[in-house]
Amino acid sequence: MLKVDYQKRLYPTLKTYFGYDAFRKHQQDIVEAILDKKDCLVIMPTGGGKSICFQLPALLFKGVTIVISPLIALMKDQVDGLNANGIAASFFNSSQSTIEQEDIINKVIKAELKLLYVAPESLSGIQNILNETYVSCIAIDEAHCISSWGHDFRPSYQQLGFLKATLPNIPIVALTATADKATREDIAAQLRITQATEFLSSFDRKNIELEVRPANNRINQVVSFINKNPNQSGIIYCLSRKTTEQLASKLKTNGIKAKAYHAGLNFNERSKVQEDFVFDRTQIVCATVAFGMGIDKSNVRWVIHYNMPKNIEGYYQEIGRSGRDGLNAKALLFHSYADVIQLRNFASGASNEEFQIAKLDRMKQFSEATTCRRKILLSYFGELLADNCGNCDICKNPPKFFDGTVIAQKILSTIYRLNQAEATGMVIDVLRGANNAAVLEKGYTNVKTFGIGKDLAWKDWQQYIIQLINQGFCEIAFHKNNVLQLTEFSNKVLFKNAKVSLTKPVDVVQVKTSETKK
Ligand code: ADP
Ligand code: ZN
Repeated sequence: MLKVDYQKRLYPTLKTYFGYDAFRKHQQDIVEAILDKKDCLVIMPTGGGKSICFQLPALLFKGVTIVISPLIALMKDQVDGLNANGIAASFFNSSQSTIEQEDIINKVIKAELKLLYVAPESLSGIQNILNETYVSCIAIDEAHCISSWGHDFRPSYQQLGFLKATLPNIPIVALTATADKATREDIAAQLRITQATEFLSSFDRKNIELEVRPANNRINQVVSFINKNPNQSGIIYCLSRKTTEQLASKLKTNGIKAKAYHAGLNFNERSKVQEDFVFDRTQIVCATVAFGMGIDKSNVRWVIHYNMPKNIEGYYQEIGRSGRDGLNAKALLFHSYADVIQLRNFASGASNEEFQIAKLDRMKQFSEATTCRRKILLSYFGELLADNCGNCDICKNPPKFFDGTVIAQKILSTIYRLNQAEATGMVIDVLRGANNAAVLEKGYTNVKTFGIGKDLAWKDWQQYIIQLINQGFCEIAFHKNNVLQLTEFSNKVLFKNAKVSLTKPVDVVQVKTSETKK
């Protein structure tokens, strides 16, 4: 039970120090749980209002609340902001002199501080006040950094498990914006707060329309998308610096003004692009994922993923930069196998390769889904949607299945006759009877299925192959040059007449542009 004294002071404190009349959803419950000295795990989207959850209790508690944060660069700003609101806060990190650090410790001992921001690697420096005499609460911001399951693992977070052992009666509150179920459990386990009360805010952004398209003629599709949504602010995320530059210039040749943004630009150039975007002087930015963090712009109307993001957290965070004003916004993702292969290559050799690849697989499944995409997205964050959303491409245009057995047989027998030694492109070339150098050189014109697929377009075959992969009828051998291989399901189709259902390939809008591929 919350002490009556605390209860009475909740709203006046919210008003006096933060200027708000009401709590947002979950905030009050979280504040009360912390004041009740319960460990908490708070999962709230960026901008949801996590800070108040621990800052308000900090003001009511007697001692100091230690805030562990990885962002040394932002600590000073955060503390300045609190001080401006009349809150006694400070930070402790390696950028300070010994004298400054001693001064802060003394303030804690004299109970003159309500909040102390500390970098995890600087905790050893505050050892003599890190006990139950001085500390009232410990808040761990960006808590996903503790988990190698998270997308931003930091080794310095790994030692934080000692906190619960050292201060067993002090509430620990872990906060994060992006954490799937496995990460959440890992956070609680590592912090030794497995009994923590979990507060999971909704991640649903209903106003963002979700759409995924195959990446054929991407540039044409982007041009046509922009022409259909003129005079709107948008961000196009690309995987590489080079792509941002190339795309911006291709858009220019199509009469669309766009700027490139990536970490290779110098500070001034980056700030200029960012500022021009925020003040609507630049409408479109082709950017790497470096763009958008800390940008507060409410009227971004669309986000395009020119390349596939490496995981769902990243995708969600990036599309979340659109439609902050609550008005309709669009998120368009291009799905390409070339991207998946490249992302797999990036992941290979990383210390947490297995996790990265598992996450990439989820991203891929999302892209290839034939059911409501929002359901899939939210289920990733542990949220179940009762009804289909009605605001994604699948809901708006449910796929129609037809008997694709013959198509599947043609594809699978070609894979078989090519000895499961060729990648998608060659399989399609053989199906369509292409007479290019590679086909001739390898003598594939003699393959029995050579040319049996002339009737269908290249991109149609490509999409059918993707569908077969999704349904498990064949697979890409990522460690063997991405060749197509058969599975145990293939035999049922090839030899036992098993039926295969396929959906018609999505029609890709063909627009004339000055830059037409393939
Ligand atoms: P997070 O850390 O979850 O990204 P913040 O704590 O920075 O979010 O809060 C995001 C924004 O919402 C801030 O501008 C904050 O002042 C505002 N905010 C938080 N709580 C409330 C509230 N109860 N009423 C109005 N605005 C709020
Ligand atoms: Zn839907």
